[in-house]
Amino acid sequence: MHPMVKPAFRRGWRDLNTVQFGMTPAHAMTLGPVDTATGSFLDLLDGTRGLPLLRAEARRMDLPDGHVDALVERLARAGLLDDARGGGPDAEALRERPDLLDRLRPELAALSLTTPEPGDALRHLAARRALRVQVRGAGRVGALLASLLSGAGVGEVDVRDVGRVEPWDVVPGGLPADAVGDRRDEAARRAVRRAAPGRPPRRRPASSPGSGGDGGFSLVVLAPRDDVAVHAPALPEDLIASGTPHLYAGVVEATGVVGPLVLPGETGCAGCLHEARTDRDATWPRLVAQWRSGRPRRAASGDLALATTVAGLAAAHALAFLDGRTPSSAGARWEAALPALDWHARPVWPHPACPCGAGAEGAVEEEAAGREPAPERAARKGKEEHAPEDGARRETMAEQRPSARVRRKAGATRPAGTWRAHV
Ligand SMILES: [Zn+2]
Repeated sequence: MHPMVKPAFRRGWRDLNTVQFGMTPAHAMTLGPVDTATGSFLDLLDGTRGLPLLRAEARRMDLPDGHVDALVERLARAGLLDDARGGGPDAEALRERPDLLDRLRPELAALSLTTPEPGDALRHLAARRALRVQVRGAGRVGALLASLLSGAGVGEVDVRDVGRVEPWDVVPGGLPADAVGDRRDEAARRAVRRAAPGRPPRRRPASSPGSGGDGGFSLVVLAPRDDVAVHAPALPEDLIASGTPHLYAGVVEATGVVGPLVLPGETGCAGCLHEARTDRDATWPRLVAQWRSGRPRRAASGDLALATTVAGLAAAHALAFLDGRTPSSAGARWEAALPALDWHARPVWPHPACPCGAGAEGAVEEEAAGREPAPERAARKGKEEHAPEDGARRETMAEQRPSARVRRKAGATRPAGTWRAHV
């Protein structure tokens, strides 16, 4: 191990023997007591030295025996330590591609702030290279979102849509002006390739073992160009049936929408949303039928700044999920309307009448028994849990597992193991 105090944390002394790592409430923590000699020793933990050399340096500085190991252990426990050589074989392969790694430095820095174990950040970044994500819809939001995922290191981003690029599809970072008139899906795939920090690793055939159904996508993002489909999404039966996690993003009129992230059988889906709206407003289905049968608009809405904001936020939620976390869009729709742009989440509860199974009897009882609903739970976690021992964090992409709740319900709602097939 070559210990390195995570450089992404800015350091400051709160008093003579307390160090604060990081600036923001979301991730900052304090370490104390730290004596002055140990404080200067921290500078040596920069990833260039292994433990034997560090112990020798400590002796030279008259620090007691065992001090280095205790310090390293303490920093590691606090989630403040990275390992300049850790992360496993895929991370090692990435280290040998400095061109690629330089492009992804900010991603690596962000991951180092949100992952606990030494070597985790690079392990997660390397794991992104093996992931497959599909984006359905290549308008302003979808094409940009797909490019963002590709630029953030996701190995394969497949884009699906029909028709040709229209002038109003053009968006910085997404479909370029010179693609107007080209096939929309092909133009979006070109944008994805252009955004990629390097050539992706060789692609696994979709039918290979372990790749799961539906092409084995870790996540499908639904970013429809049609504003009715954004506001009143239809139940994506293929994704529910195959247990594929999926995320919604889009702009309807002057409102940007991110979410819900649907973990089939666990969190509320498009069908649940529809049922809940119908419960609240009996005329909802009548309105939806009229909107859906209306003539499609030539240019859908999607103010440029709002569309890019939605694409960016949705990509961040997608990446959080792909990195093994549960972002706050699981079971919630984040919405912001022009011109105030106040982002707020509306919960999407599992509904007992929905065929997705998330609202099946067991789950409803659990909610009724006073368990906190998913969006609130996620929001609370975001606020409180920043310590490395965060139990909600799953270890690596490869080991991503359903939450305890999914495991409990898996037998009742869908064949066990279907989840694993898709992550
Ligand atoms: Zn549902």
